[in-house]
Amino acid sequence: MVTGTKPIRALSRRISKGVGMTSVRTRQRLVDRLATEGIHRHEVLQAMNTVPRHLFVDEALASRAYEDIALPIGYGQTISQPFVVALMTQALLDDLDPARVLEIGTGCGYQTAILACLIDEVFTIERIQELYQQSRNRLFDIGLRNIKFRHGDGFLGWDEYAPYDAILAAAAPNQIPQTLLDQLAVGGRLILPVGERSQQKLIKIERTAEGYEQHELESVRFVPLIEGTS
Ligand code: SAH
Repeated sequence: MVTGTKPIRALSRRISKGVGMTSVRTRQRLVDRLATEGIHRHEVLQAMNTVPRHLFVDEALASRAYEDIALPIGYGQTISQPFVVALMTQALLDDLDPARVLEIGTGCGYQTAILACLIDEVFTIERIQELYQQSRNRLFDIGLRNIKFRHGDGFLGWDEYAPYDAILAAAAPNQIPQTLLDQLAVGGRLILPVGERSQQKLIKIERTAEGYEQHELESVRFVPLIEGTS
């Protein structure tokens, strides 16, 4: 069943021209597959169909960009698997209409771009200087303007713009950082992987007026959240 009514922002108008037809067809095949695997929110599928993932990886890997796999992006990091990006985005939007979202771990900026299609204001933090700079340039080039970038340590969150309606992390700490809980608005939601790589779980935490409610979603495999910057 297709659900979700929030209209996607008109990214296609904002993405610069020159995205070939081959990528349009292969991207549609990937999106069809995600739909059969449990991604039911229409606007998430639409966003995945709009953002050209091949522009986020090295040219040598571009032909593999629409396979449902993680790929290397340098500096020992990976672009997340499309299914996982879709799953996290869906978990973020389920019964919530967040206007301001903080993302921890920009990486190549693919998840950031998906969020920016769906959410008014996106804040994103990356600890590796080169990835921060590359993503900032890349997302500017494809025409996304509703994102604020920071080179910094995601363990500290981004106090200046807190509280956030939602926070999403693409790298796993061993324990849930208290700072991120503090920067969540009441009624807001934190989605993050937690634990060692062999036994990680995707966790959803909701902040209520009384405190925090925690739910376990799926077993996942993310790179670790590392303290400090480089
Ligand atoms: N969604 C991204 C995922 C990249 S992998 C993508 O698809 O490209 C996770 C990213 O988190 C890496 O770029 C890594 O450098 C970053 N990261 C790890 N620890 C961090 C921290 N403490 N603060 C900010 N970013 C961090």
